[in-house]
Amino acid sequence: MILNIKTDNLRVLVTGGAGFIGGCLVRSLLTRSNAIIFNLDKLSYASDLSGIEQTVNISNHNLIKADLNNYDETLSAVIKADPDIIFHLAAESHVDRSIENAKPFIESNIIGTFNLLESARMHWEKMELPRKERFRFLHVSTDEVFGSLTEEGQFSEESPYDPRSPYSASKAASDHLCNAWFHTFNFPVIKTNCSNNFGPFQFPEKLIPLIIIKALNNLPIPIYGDGKNIRDWLFVEDHVDALILAGTQGEVGKTYCIGGSNEKTNLEIAESICELFDINLPRKQSYKNLIKFVKDRPGHDKRYAINSELITRELGWNAKHDFNTALSKTVEWYTKNQEWCRNIQKKSGYRGQRIGLS
Ligand code: NAD
Repeated sequence: MILNIKTDNLRVLVTGGAGFIGGCLVRSLLTRSNAIIFNLDKLSYASDLSGIEQTVNISNHNLIKADLNNYDETLSAVIKADPDIIFHLAAESHVDRSIENAKPFIESNIIGTFNLLESARMHWEKMELPRKERFRFLHVSTDEVFGSLTEEGQFSEESPYDPRSPYSASKAASDHLCNAWFHTFNFPVIKTNCSNNFGPFQFPEKLIPLIIIKALNNLPIPIYGDGKNIRDWLFVEDHVDALILAGTQGEVGKTYCIGGSNEKTNLEIAESICELFDINLPRKQSYKNLIKFVKDRPGHDKRYAINSELITRELGWNAKHDFNTALSKTVEWYTKNQEWCRNIQKKSGYRGQRIGLS
């Protein structure tokens, strides 16, 4: 059964909609549909609603401040939203923070997913046909659950789980819970595992915004280890298109891998950003002189790469954005929105310092 976000007047519950990817999803849903959006978020250090507040159809956006770690709050949010579809993105998401302190990752990503699955299952069981038949729960996960690749090969839906950081282990656990709820209770779960995202409104602890902000402030750009760790980068709007497709047209019980086919070393990313600044905001010396190699991340995965053939073949998804153009657009956005960066840094207390060394 296919949901049509344009014509079906859906009630949509997005968890983590005040975060980077969830915010982009909420903005896209508000712009592309008449859906009523319920945005469940605990409003953490990584949250920001300013992008959503500037979006059209803002009257269709309803914020529910709730912590998934709290079952009662989660259940009443689900009852209030009475959703036709749930996009579950809320999670603690930064590997370095999970090394520093894994507990919030266990609480939000594992207990939080369990509380949401149980609340959503209760809601679904009470739904009447035909709404019940078309209800979907889309669980948003990461390629990091599959571990680390050597130079060869790509992750796909068949890849075995081999998480290596507290973050990826907690996401892997949440994926397993979703599979269990599908197989045991026939609960209509669809899962996605995506590669690294980048784009506007990403909290500036993640690689690309961190490099941009360091360069803008003429500060050393830290690169972990030898800089040769490889990630497969995807522009956030392409990820969001894939999530909407998978959630509305995907097959229940299936997993879809989503990737950008843009494998870059961390050093290549830093150099590309520096080259953009050398052209657009020239200083005496190249920005590349700011790059400094620092102690590696403990357990740093070597390489991630995703094979997206299934979602392309079955749902017709393709990334629309060329990597270099999207990177340039992202650098331009951060350059124009330094006030946003300063505000979110001030609010969160994170000023670009190194975390997660032990
Ligand atoms: P983010 O850290 O920017 O945002 C996460 C949001 O979830 C925040 O607003 C936070 O307040 C909220 N949240 C966290 N714990 C919560 C809880 N217990 N209750 C309610 N809200 C809670 O993360 P992001 O980068 O937007 O990632 C979103 C999802 O996509 C995550 O599940 C992540 O694992 C997954 N993912 C991210 C990437 C990436 O490159 N960023 C790639 C693949 C998958």
